[in-house]
Amino acid sequence: MSHIYPADFASAAQQIVNAGQFLNSQGLAPATSGNYSMRLADGTLALTVSGRHKGRLVANDVMQATPDGAALDGKKPSAETALHAQLYKLYPQANAVLHAHSTSGVILTRLRKGDTITLAGYEMLKAFPGITTHETSLSIPVVDNAQDMDVLMAAIAPRLTLGLPAYLIRDHGFYVWAPTMPQAEYMSEALEHLLKCEVELEKISPRSAA
Ligand SMILES: [Zn+2]
Repeated sequence: MSHIYPADFASAAQQIVNAGQFLNSQGLAPATSGNYSMRLADGTLALTVSGRHKGRLVANDVMQATPDGAALDGKKPSAETALHAQLYKLYPQANAVLHAHSTSGVILTRLRKGDTITLAGYEMLKAFPGITTHETSLSIPVVDNAQDMDVLMAAIAPRLTLGLPAYLIRDHGFYVWAPTMPQAEYMSEALEHLLKCEVELEKISPRSAA
């Protein structure tokens, strides 16, 4: 599988609107949180504008930007646009990026102070690229939250290894990326499922103190 781009900006905008409805249905879009993007064939980005509820997006809430995240149409990009641009540059196969304020991700990164969340032995791991068995583990990097995007980008840059599908920002949420928007949606749903399992396990058998 190489590059699977949306046909054009209008198609990308519609996929982003649909993604918002899906993530909202999964409880992954509280208030105006999160931001979503796609890479177009010409390398430009389609991404959500700042401040909209992602469950109620319309096509006009999607803007077009350069590969560096600068607006091409006068609309106001989200503060986190730079993090999307960083992922597209590092992962040539990624054509869709979803950032969601995952409740389970917030709880787990508050409980566990380490810089990695390891998910091991779960059937749902097979939702991630290259994983064909539950007999494996996936280590998701965790970086501390910051309002300065340059600080966040510098913190995550050395952790973005080849083949990594996601990372977490402590007290904040996750980023996932994939070749297509439906794949990014499935991976968001799968990651939230896995993080929720870990939260439920913490209630029964706390590992956060370890
Ligand atoms: Zn955010």
